[in-house]
Amino acid sequence: MTQAPNVYDAEPIPASVRAEIEKMLQTGDLFRYTAAENAPVSLLEREFADMMGTKYALAVSSCSAALFLSLEALALEPGTKVLIPGFTFAAVPSSVVHAKLTPILVDVAANYRIDMADFEAKLTPDVGAVIISHMRGHTSDMDAIMALCDAAGIPVIEDAAHSLGTTWNGQKIGTMGRVGCFSFQSYKLVNAGEGGILVTDDADLLARAVIMSGAYEHNWKKHQGPGGADDTALAEAFARWQNELPLYNLRLSNLSAALVRAQLPEVETRVRKGRINHDYVADKLNASPWLSVPPALPAEKRAPDSIQFNLEEFLSDEDAIAFAEAAAARGVKVQIFGLSEDNARAFWNWKFIGPQGPLPQTVNMLMRACDVRLPTRLTTDELDTIADALIAAAAEVKAGSRAYGT
Ligand SMILES: *Cc1c(COP(=O)(O)O)cnc(C)c1O
Repeated sequence: MTQAPNVYDAEPIPASVRAEIEKMLQTGDLFRYTAAENAPVSLLEREFADMMGTKYALAVSSCSAALFLSLEALALEPGTKVLIPGFTFAAVPSSVVHAKLTPILVDVAANYRIDMADFEAKLTPDVGAVIISHMRGHTSDMDAIMALCDAAGIPVIEDAAHSLGTTWNGQKIGTMGRVGCFSFQSYKLVNAGEGGILVTDDADLLARAVIMSGAYEHNWKKHQGPGGADDTALAEAFARWQNELPLYNLRLSNLSAALVRAQLPEVETRVRKGRINHDYVADKLNASPWLSVPPALPAEKRAPDSIQFNLEEFLSDEDAIAFAEAAAARGVKVQIFGLSEDNARAFWNWKFIGPQGPLPQTVNMLMRACDVRLPTRLTTDELDTIADALIAAAAEVKAGSRAYGT
């Protein structure tokens, strides 16, 4: 059997970027606002907005920074409620707390998607914004969410940190809400070590976010819409907010922007390959009576670089942990979100957000939902090794628990 691949190694950065980085090393021109125009960060913003089909993009230091600035740009009263899913990464409730707002968790079902009945019940008039995390690329029912939020006049922020390339009814994830946020941290589809970007069509929101990201004095002049300098709505918004807002300095450096730009032409291939790999492994796992990969919703086309599946009929936590150990013995690291210690995606580890109502479906899901990385570079042999190890590990534990009888 092929040895299990190391799924934590990053991929090489395309060699095409070497000359540009060498030039930056020689000139030392790393700050986005030094050059009069065409700084790598500005070019990235234009290219990313064009790729997503939005008017504007703002590149920042992380997706967390993009989420924080999006919330700040909405100018909500301190303490206002923000709905977020009960299943997401700790960065999301953290961005809400950072913006001095109050996170309210919504229950998430066994298929990793927001439970719409709980969402509707919690979408009360005192909610100021909603963050939808397309967690691990799993898209909740965006038609229902947008209809409810539009009817209530509540802005939606899409946390698409890990969803670049996913579409919903053919529309790009991250372009449905008022603003969409993406990550360039190393475990995402595009890797710059750290980095993030937000996209929006809203000139006022963009202007506020640009200034707060650290466009001090008149540096906002280096931010333009698709039409270049004659974007009146944007110019008016910058004039409106000049000197009115704090500067949090959450900017991206030219070096990081160059790394991201070099990978943008590869996004389509990575998405296609990731989807093929994911579906190949999913079909194999679904053939096991003990493992199930929830299907995508009909409107969703995913762009996965990892796979999530549920343990079926694993009645005890001990058996679930034994499965993870049996997989590890075969060289495949499985993380069960609710059973791996101090997991940042288990909401009970977000002790900084204060008490929340019960989230029964989210708890049940987290205790049996498994996470395995599937970088898009893996070969079919390597995918077979991973899938076979998972299937054998589940069978071994189930055979053991039958033998001892319970
Ligand atoms: C990675 C991730 C984030 C945070 O992104 P950073 O760029 O590391 O701040 C937020 N939400 C989700 C769903 C993520 O996967």
